[in-house]
Amino acid sequence: MTATLAITGRDERFTVRRIYCVGRNYAAHILEMNEGADPRDPPFFFQKPTDAVVETGATVPYPPMTDDLQFELELVAAITTGGREITVENALNHVGYYAIGIDLTRRDLQFRAREKSWPWEMGKSFDHSAPIGPLCPVGDAGHDTRAITLSVDGTERQNSTTAHMIWSVAEIIANLSRQYKLQPGDVIMTGTPEGVGAVTPGQKIKARADGLPPLSITIGGPE
Ligand code: MN
Repeated sequence: MTATLAITGRDERFTVRRIYCVGRNYAAHILEMNEGADPRDPPFFFQKPTDAVVETGATVPYPPMTDDLQFELELVAAITTGGREITVENALNHVGYYAIGIDLTRRDLQFRAREKSWPWEMGKSFDHSAPIGPLCPVGDAGHDTRAITLSVDGTERQNSTTAHMIWSVAEIIANLSRQYKLQPGDVIMTGTPEGVGAVTPGQKIKARADGLPPLSITIGGPE
């Protein structure tokens, strides 16, 4: 099955090639995670499986092996022009769309991996772990920083702005393109601000960003 995402105002869909995620990109979130990281550390990346994409309106099954499924509200940038060794100055020319997304996380498994210096996959890269809202073309969305919020059952839980990102979208693209050749279809989840927390079956999560279509999901029972 090919993973695709809806594009606002267009019949065509965006075919997802890879899902890259940035860790530790908001200082207040680093503090709440007790990461002990220096905010000036270079950005680091992990990936989710392409078919982990979930679209707005979906019910996400509660994943196995966890008692602590958490939301992370994140701006998503979708690449439409590939390249390697992209400069910061040119980086935003490679972005075709923005969306709001949620980096769903099995926090207990992430912390266990952290303790044991294991890879992050168990905590981050499970089925249905990448809800992403409809993509908005940059011609409509613009590249400016924007307010982002997340609510659970109508109660606001995260409220920040992408202006608080430690590494900007352009800097993230420049750095990531030194590690991988970026290709059209790559999407980048750019890290979460503070306020992350757990959800349980039956709860509804709504993620919003100024100027972008919202994303709504419901947490279901086990698959
Ligand atoms: Mn995240």
